[in-house]
Amino acid sequence: MKREQLMVAAIENGTVIDHIPSNRLFEVIRLLHIEELDHDTVFIGFNLKSEAMGLKSLIKISNRYFSEEELNHLAVVAPNVTLCIIKDYEVIEKRCVELPTELRNIIHCNNPKCICNNEPMPTRFVVSGHTVKCFYCEKEQQLANVKLVHSLHPEN
Ligand SMILES: [Zn+2]
Repeated sequence: MKREQLMVAAIENGTVIDHIPSNRLFEVIRLLHIEELDHDTVFIGFNLKSEAMGLKSLIKISNRYFSEEELNHLAVVAPNVTLCIIKDYEVIEKRCVELPTELRNIIHCNNPKCICNNEPMPTRFVVSGHTVKCFYCEKEQQLANVKLVHSLHPEN
């Protein structure tokens, strides 16, 4: 195991999200709803030294496995993260995230006149390459500049 990984405690079972750009860590935390986990232990390593990235961040979540859909949403803010599934302290699966072709209620439409900014409704975007297009107003944005929706739960 690499030394940088040892700086954050090992977990017996759960999910490790590695190679998160440090400036995106808090968005990743938000996309995964980590603040809502009330029993599972979460270790967060912020600004760890990485040969490939300079500085990176990682998150280890004990006893928690996420759906592929939940994890693929991470590609919006951190396209190069690595996911490791841990069982009995062993990595049993390792993969990269894949950007979904459609994003529902993940990112904000930057057109103030768009219906999704004026009605209590989830946003909806079609992804193509590095561009996303609002399903409602058809305004395009570069993926690198998108903002996440303010609330991921429009019903609240
Ligand atoms: Zn729109």
